[in-house]
Amino acid sequence: MTAGAGETVLLAAERQQVADYCRRMRADRLVVGTSGNLSARSGDLVAVSPSGLDYDELTAALVGVHRADSGAPVEAPRGPTTELPMHLAIYRHTGAGAIVHTHSTAATAVSTLVDELPPMHYLIAMFGGGVRVAGYATYGSDELAGQVSAALAGRTGCLLANHGAVTIGDTLGEAYRRAEYLEWLCEVWLRASARGAPRLLPPDEIDRVAAKLAGYGR
Ligand SMILES: [Zn+2]
Repeated sequence: MTAGAGETVLLAAERQQVADYCRRMRADRLVVGTSGNLSARSGDLVAVSPSGLDYDELTAALVGVHRADSGAPVEAPRGPTTELPMHLAIYRHTGAGAIVHTHSTAATAVSTLVDELPPMHYLIAMFGGGVRVAGYATYGSDELAGQVSAALAGRTGCLLANHGAVTIGDTLGEAYRRAEYLEWLCEVWLRASARGAPRLLPPDEIDRVAAKLAGYGR
């Protein structure tokens, strides 16, 4: 991104990260085509991926900056992702600093089968426990924004029924890592449940692992 003399570029680092992770998201096969979207928050502003642009053409300058409260464009050369209402609702309801929304294959498949991804592996503790499936609503709708916000209560990720997945984090890097782990957990569950009823871990073990993971993080 370039700026003229004396010009400051709003959220320069966040916009670069959004552009970089959008390309990575497709390379890592967490989305196909232009689907999925990302955002990173800084104070009252949010850097959010634009709507319908090929990720190969996405530069930091094309990542829009919007107000976190209203979504009003502050510096946005293109229209924002149609899921902007969902991103804004998640920021309102959680302490998230960044959001990753994918249509990754295993997560999307699981979202059509169950109401919650159960604790069949200890790493689900990184999401705060069983990962809920937010009720279906049309993409881009305020209803979907509400369903996803509710499913994220006390969690760092959720699935969107018949749609995909959302993960949150303090940073885009953290939210992205969680998207990768959530996809892996869903893949494990699909393979295991295809052969029978997976053995589950008890809630107190998930709590114990969550405490260990928190210590490891520090
Ligand atoms: Zn979507």
